Amino acid sequence: MPADADPPRILAIANQKGGVGKTTTAINLGAALSAVGAKVLLIDSDPQGNASTGLGVLPHMRARTIYDVLIDQTPIAEVIMATDIPGFDLAPAEADLSGVELELGQTPRRAFRLRDALSGLRERRAYDYVLIDCPPSLNLLTLNAMTAADAVLVPLQCEFFALEGLSQLLRTVEQVRGALNPALEVQGVVLTMYDRRNSLSAQVAKDVRDHLGDRVYETVIPRNVRVSEAPSFGKPAIIYDLHCAGSQAYLKLAREVIRRERGRRMTPA
Ligand code: ADP
Ligand code: MG
Repeated sequence: MPADADPPRILAIANQKGGVGKTTTAINLGAALSAVGAKVLLIDSDPQGNASTGLGVLPHMRARTIYDVLIDQTPIAEVIMATDIPGFDLAPAEADLSGVELELGQTPRRAFRLRDALSGLRERRAYDYVLIDCPPSLNLLTLNAMTAADAVLVPLQCEFFALEGLSQLLRTVEQVRGALNPALEVQGVVLTMYDRRNSLSAQVAKDVRDHLGDRVYETVIPRNVRVSEAPSFGKPAIIYDLHCAGSQAYLKLAREVIRRERGRRMTPA
């Protein structure tokens, strides 16, 4: 890696609601970013381990996991595994991750565990993007992700209560900014599982855009059966079916993420 490479951009993919497309976005945005030439690490920080399984890393294949990093301070380099996609690595998770909250108890700097673990990665600049797949809750794992991250990327499902949940999430981002990570930004909101035959999808998308303006990505991820099938084959959608609408949408999102990044880096602070 050239010495003048930028440090990685670390994005926490968060929304305290379950089933909104966090893991799907983590896997497919990660794969799409690496397909257009970026080096990407996906950190699975959900005890359900769906990002790990979805990339074909079954529980028996996970020797060391992000649990060891958070609890025993195992160096993250010892946990990282290559996936079948060149340039796309994974730090897997396992069910024991659900014990982190209890095990860390009142340990000082308990919210800084992941940030501290990633400091070497920032310096080595081996990755362009580090994506953290968060659990469906605003718990200690999500706080660790937001404390370690440069920005939060929010997948938002086009459904009735979407905006309500979003306000709560944005309040949490504010709190993290105040107490743990003053530099934390909101990278953007990506609308997921958009169904163009459903007028509610269009209405919610409009409300979210009216509310958040250009913080919402232009790219909308459609509801697409190929995207939902791909994880059971242990593959990102672009490998399972490159030409389906979902794969194409995630490739478009990757280009938009990179374009925004370039704009940000060129803007003087
Ligand atoms: P989360 O990580 O937020 O809990 P997931 O990414 O696991 O959400 O998605 C929840 C469910 O919705 C999964 O079964 C997933 O396959 C499905 N899903 C996600 N995105 C899409 C999509 N664009 N089209 C169809 N199904 C999707
Ligand atoms: Mg998930």
